[in-house]
Amino acid sequence: MSVKTITCIGCPMGCRLNVRMESGQVKEVDGAGCGRGAVYARQECVCPMRMVTSLVCVRERRAPLSVKTTRPVPKERIFDCLKAIHAEQAVPPVEIGEVIVKDVCGTGVDIVATGKIAENAECGMSDVQANNVVQDNR
Ligand code: SF4
Repeated sequence: MSVKTITCIGCPMGCRLNVRMESGQVKEVDGAGCGRGAVYARQECVCPMRMVTSLVCVRERRAPLSVKTTRPVPKERIFDCLKAIHAEQAVPPVEIGEVIVKDVCGTGVDIVATGKIAENAECGMSDVQANNVVQDNR
């Protein structure tokens, strides 16, 4: 039997949870201020999950597109998911919520855009950068 102490992230109270584990299973959770604490502790101690947020390249644009998973993925798959995201390239136009990577790494979770890119949007350069490019090409 072992006891782990974790902090619940379910709300700003941040309850300290004492989790008694036996044979890889959660046997008891103490210290939770509400029912969500025990649910969180069981998930976190047996199969921790995380949302993934990142940036993906956009074709012919300098500014990347922000993306996120639609649901949490197993914590040990985060780096696989990031690799898959970074290998991808979004093609304008892109709408918020549009699927950028379907079923990322076989997790059953999609990667969706959290930003919007119009087809004829600027290439992502500031006016100063664009001006420098114009001057460099003279
Ligand atoms: S156990 Fe309940 S009250 Fe405590 S941090 Fe988690 S969600 Fe908040």
